[in-house]
Amino acid sequence: MVSQKMFELGRRSSKIRQIAEYGRARKAEIGNEKVFDFSLGNPSIPAPEKVREELIRLIETTPAEVLHGYTSSAGDMGVRESIAKYLSETFGANADASLIYMTCGAAASLCISFTALLAKGDEVIVPSPYFPEYKVFIEKAGGVTVTVPCEDKTFKLDIKAIEAAINERTRIVLINTPNNPTGAVYSEREIKALADLMQKKEKELNREIYLLSDEPYRELYYGEGKLPFVPNYYKRSIVAYSYSKSLSLPGERIGYIFVSPECPSADDVFAAVCGAGRSLGYVCAPALFQRMIPGVLGLTSDISEYRENREILVGALTEMGYELTPPDGAFYMFIKSPEDDAELFCERAKKHEILLVPSDDFGVKGYARLAYCTSRATVINSLPAFKALMDEYKK
Ligand code: PLP
Repeated sequence: MVSQKMFELGRRSSKIRQIAEYGRARKAEIGNEKVFDFSLGNPSIPAPEKVREELIRLIETTPAEVLHGYTSSAGDMGVRESIAKYLSETFGANADASLIYMTCGAAASLCISFTALLAKGDEVIVPSPYFPEYKVFIEKAGGVTVTVPCEDKTFKLDIKAIEAAINERTRIVLINTPNNPTGAVYSEREIKALADLMQKKEKELNREIYLLSDEPYRELYYGEGKLPFVPNYYKRSIVAYSYSKSLSLPGERIGYIFVSPECPSADDVFAAVCGAGRSLGYVCAPALFQRMIPGVLGLTSDISEYRENREILVGALTEMGYELTPPDGAFYMFIKSPEDDAELFCERAKKHEILLVPSDDFGVKGYARLAYCTSRATVINSLPAFKALMDEYKK
């Protein structure tokens, strides 16, 4: 006997993974360069050189029993202090090291946060389209996912729709900016509008409602200036951060949870975060990668590659007749399917060796996600295939 629920989750891997697996097999069959794989958000640019240097320095200078030993479960205090200092200097966040919890990436940050905050039946508002794993994490923590569609075409938050969805069971509003799968980025005005709404609703319902900001793409922004730091706008904020994308380290599993010092009863929230991490068996985040972080704070992989991929694809695909909203951040774009059924569109794309993910798994119909964190050659060589695909629809 096994858990039916876990069995089903294990058997039915995510659509993204299924397509990526297909891509792997297909590349082995016909050659890497012949498959235009835009399925997976796996960074294609290397980590900054300083990451390697720091790792080597740590390996050469730290006694092995320290280097590979457990850290405290919330993480090494020196590391947390460096991150707090960095966040304070960069965002004016008044960050507190004792409210930072080192994790195995954003997925762990989210699972721990949901487990820390949710009682059975509590609702989490999730703007759609959304990263499909949210549902898995929320349900495992006993919560209920309430999806709220974003605005058409721009994929910005629909504040009125969120207002209508908040009720006496709401515990968390989850946002993800820059966004997977749309590449949308929320401006300061939009974050303020959401914060104002949530403050109003907290009062009206006499209920604590948390703003959980999932930020693995925080530094992947192609616009001007800096993005708003969510906890500066809403007190009851928690940030789920990860270095997977900003430093191109998704396999190393390193990130953190930031509980806003302005959050009422922040110490209690942090204690619940520690309890959740413990109950989920995380023990501590990878020690070597924790210790590498202070030496690379403020660095980001060279995202000019993504920026150029984005420019080439937005220009070429739009000219061919594809409908898309140019993404402002992350490394995804959401293309309108030329036929109603996005699954059929992606199947058709597959015949041209183009691998896209249909939007159904992201909670909306009629789009396909393209992850442009690929080599430049994949982008350039895919263009005739995209053209041939669109020509089929124009016939
Ligand atoms: N949240 C979003 C929106 C993501 O796109 C991803 C990964 O693609 C994650 C969380 C998980 O990231 P990590 O690899 O840091 O666990």
